[in-house]
Amino acid sequence: MLALQRRGERDRVIRPNEMWRDIQRRFAPDDPTVGGAGSSTRIPDAPGHPPAPERFREAMASQLGGDRPVPPAVGNERWLKHVPTAPCPALERPFTATEVVHALFPVMKRLQLLTCPADGSPCAGCPLCTAFSEAHDRWDGSPTDDAPDWRPSARTSKASGDAMRMEHFRWPRPAEEGERLEYRMAVGAALAEVFNAMLEEMSLPEMMTVYRTIMLRKHAKPGQQQDYANPDFYRPITLSPLLTKALGLVIGARIYHWATKNGIIAPAQIGFMPFHGGDWHVWTLTEALAARRRLKLPTHALFIDLRKAYDSVDPRALMAVLRRMGLPEKLVGLLEAWSGARRTAVSVNGVRTGADRQCGR
Ligand SMILES: [Zn+2]
Repeated sequence: MLALQRRGERDRVIRPNEMWRDIQRRFAPDDPTVGGAGSSTRIPDAPGHPPAPERFREAMASQLGGDRPVPPAVGNERWLKHVPTAPCPALERPFTATEVVHALFPVMKRLQLLTCPADGSPCAGCPLCTAFSEAHDRWDGSPTDDAPDWRPSARTSKASGDAMRMEHFRWPRPAEEGERLEYRMAVGAALAEVFNAMLEEMSLPEMMTVYRTIMLRKHAKPGQQQDYANPDFYRPITLSPLLTKALGLVIGARIYHWATKNGIIAPAQIGFMPFHGGDWHVWTLTEALAARRRLKLPTHALFIDLRKAYDSVDPRALMAVLRRMGLPEKLVGLLEAWSGARRTAVSVNGVRTGADRQCGR
């Protein structure tokens, strides 16, 4: 009994993903797809070909690697002149414990937002900071009231590329409520120190640059014959190591606030933006269609879906654009080192293959 209890404790504390699975199984005990499927789905071998892990690694490597010509944005003024700029040297100041705490932990009533993450100036000049502070003031601090939302922030119940999960950061806390802020600030200070060393050296330790790619089955299109031995029928999802994710959240908050307060993102860009989402475009479109129908006007709509849009962004072009926008050199240098060092290991049928270069350079 004691052994069972110990195992329960270990699974609960050390393996949050086990705990999620257990909860799912308890809520839907008769559903065989709950708690076991997903990334553990077995990929069949194809007759006459190498085993699935080898084939999938090859397929991913051919998609990700390859030498490409330098894109024109890197040095051509004709293209670069269209890039909006808002130079901000403060973006490369040292990270603070508070920035890390905001990114990793639940919002706390006792922790007020005093300065904007973009440049460390008072919040009044930033629409995102002002909105957050107002919501924070309205919030009574209890779990039943609507807590303000800080973005980007850590999300639990999602897999990571290594054995550590976001729950390992986000959930542990002193039993005494009065000690929680102090504990979280101590964790934040320790991480900030590590991130600052990376920023200073403009490099990431190797353990933070090896990602893990898992394969998820795509839904069949109408009339399509599924072939689950074929990599084309899978959507690869690449998971980043936990510390890398944490660094990305802290840098992400700085860039969101900088971009928003300087108005350098077009209003039509609503995906991945705070307070917005892709469904707003759906609403705009349906309203426009209805209005035009009332006026008996003909309407044409064009939908464009770029193939592998994010995967095909060339990191050299991205860095050239960020420099032009006014991101300071140390921050771009860190992002550049990160993008150049990234590797991913493809996980298929429990076999983790060697890590491949993640992006073409
Ligand atoms: Zn701000």
